[in-house]
Amino acid sequence: MCLKSTIIFIFLFSGLLFAQPKVVTLKVGSTVSYVGGFVDLNHVYISLNDLSQCLGLHTFELRSTGKLSVYSEYGSLLFTPDNNFIVVSTGGESKIYQLPIAVLSANGKLYMPATYAGEYFSRILQGNLTYDEEKAEFNFLNSNLIAPLVTGVQVEEKANGAVIEIGMQSLPKAYEAAMATAASGGQENMLYVTLMPATGNIQKLNSLSPTDVYSNVIAIQNPNSIQLSFRLKQSYVSKQIFVDSTTNSVVVALYSQADVKKIFSEEIKKKLDAEKKNWKLDVIVIDPGHGGKDPGAIGVMGTEEKNVTLAIAKDLKRDLNKKLPNVKVVMTRDDDEFVELDKRGEIANEAGGKLFISIHCNSMPHKPNPANGLETYFLRPGKTGEAIRIAAQENAAIKYENDYEKKYKTYDADNMILTTMAHGAYVKYSERLAQLIEDNVSSVAAVADNGVSQAGFYVLIGASMPAVLVETGYLSNVREERYLRSKTGREAIARGITNAIVKYKAEYEKNFTQN
Ligand SMILES: [Zn+2]
Repeated sequence: MCLKSTIIFIFLFSGLLFAQPKVVTLKVGSTVSYVGGFVDLNHVYISLNDLSQCLGLHTFELRSTGKLSVYSEYGSLLFTPDNNFIVVSTGGESKIYQLPIAVLSANGKLYMPATYAGEYFSRILQGNLTYDEEKAEFNFLNSNLIAPLVTGVQVEEKANGAVIEIGMQSLPKAYEAAMATAASGGQENMLYVTLMPATGNIQKLNSLSPTDVYSNVIAIQNPNSIQLSFRLKQSYVSKQIFVDSTTNSVVVALYSQADVKKIFSEEIKKKLDAEKKNWKLDVIVIDPGHGGKDPGAIGVMGTEEKNVTLAIAKDLKRDLNKKLPNVKVVMTRDDDEFVELDKRGEIANEAGGKLFISIHCNSMPHKPNPANGLETYFLRPGKTGEAIRIAAQENAAIKYENDYEKKYKTYDADNMILTTMAHGAYVKYSERLAQLIEDNVSSVAAVADNGVSQAGFYVLIGASMPAVLVETGYLSNVREERYLRSKTGREAIARGITNAIVKYKAEYEKNFTQN
């Protein structure tokens, strides 16, 4: 039962003598209702039946098993008494989630800790249900109303006009500005800005103090947008609206003269400087392929790829530290340990990496095999048969991960293309680095330059930075296996990669300092 008052609840509450009765508030917009429950030593439990009813969800109780199914047009939740598992079905797919605490049955109802309920109910609601433990209160926010909040308005007068900066909590999807001037037949000089979706404190926005630029602001909240009308103190010849993602603001530039080029040169320069800092090649991530339970390819003489990649990576790190002392070098592993493929990208991102180099050794299915040489790859869904073969071989490392089927399912062909597009900004740099590695390694090490290729490597997907994968040589080729096992060979390869990175850094930073 969904209660409209807390008083009735105490009378309805019986049984569950071990626990204290408790009422939790549910706020949906301005509507308040109460969900019955109890408190045990550590948790506030709420009745799943009551919460469902208060949220307007349908329920179905399986009398024989005591299971409770809660459903909406978006999906369903299945709760089982004295059981930690919840089955969540959405979009024709069912997934099982494990709760740290079992669902309890009492009084003919099922109960679960309020703190976990929001997350699961949100999955079948068009919106977000959150629980505030301190207030013992659920809040439901319809996703139509989850819109960026306007936080304030700032104005700055410029030599040739003015800038109105509308601060937002996050950027709206769409924004537009229109102007009406007294000269063009309007009554007044007005600027209309529409932000969508957006929300805000209308009362506060309507009472913004006059500035040198406008005399007042009229704010209107529409279901999905906000319109701000500025009554301007003078007329402007043109306007421009854009967003500044560094400050989360929507900026309207008002030009009092046609000379629009000069006015923002200072701002643009400031932004470019900030951008430059962002692009500075200050962290390099080295990823020694495989490790731990995943040996990688096995050579003719039994050499394990994971040991070669780690040894080369260590040499590379040492060389880079020497040649580029101001650059931080991060390794995704520095001993014989198993690191999941997606974790490697995470490590790189968390370290603020500007370059990701995954080190591997190649191998043919049948050994020994004369195939030999160095190949460097950057991300792209597998194209040529050979690229597909190598990607399949390296991607096979996921088999050593738990739940790999579920985790990597999203990396199907279509998604791979999307991810590759997301990497678009880095492709140019990845390709250039790949080329430099081919040139520089083959010139100092005894491995042939087999050229640069593109393939879909999982390990490159997660790293949000230019990223390459180097197949340093073939363990299925006896001569190359011997070379990769030798100190001379490994050090030469590391030296070649270091030379490539030093050149790359110089080229790359030159690009960002020339303006
Ligand atoms: Zn490998």
